[in-house]
Amino acid sequence: MSDAQNLTELPAVARNVNLPCKKCGVDRFFVVVAHTTPTSAKVKCEVCGASKTFKLAKPESAAKKKKVGTGTKKVSKTRGPDPAQVWEELKTQIGTDALLPYSMKTQFKLANAINHPKFGIGFVTNASHDRVDVAFAEGTRALVHNRP
Ligand SMILES: [Zn+2]
Repeated sequence: MSDAQNLTELPAVARNVNLPCKKCGVDRFFVVVAHTTPTSAKVKCEVCGASKTFKLAKPESAAKKKKVGTGTKKVSKTRGPDPAQVWEELKTQIGTDALLPYSMKTQFKLANAINHPKFGIGFVTNASHDRVDVAFAEGTRALVHNRP
């Protein structure tokens, strides 16, 4: 028997999870039919056959429950990593010896160092056919590239 709330990974296909069934009105064993994403699976009530999607509880939500010290007036805006810090790390990793001037006609690749006339030096963190995500000191920007 598995407690669905404490699972950190999806139960294997054909395994059971104990979940509340709306149709039955009680907790039922649901058999895992298929994994639909890395964190969710299609499950079917073994009694009434109702199917639903079982999602893993995100580990971050548990971490967020941690109480942040109360009573201090420090207001910290922590919205993910500091772009300047990310930029510094990329600069260390990738370097700026091979700076490519930015042009929307150029095709950039992952980890290219780019010199942008307006935003300065940036590093490619993601590249698709016609767009690149470039981490600049003040944040990541999506730029077009590979435009003939
Ligand atoms: Zn049911």
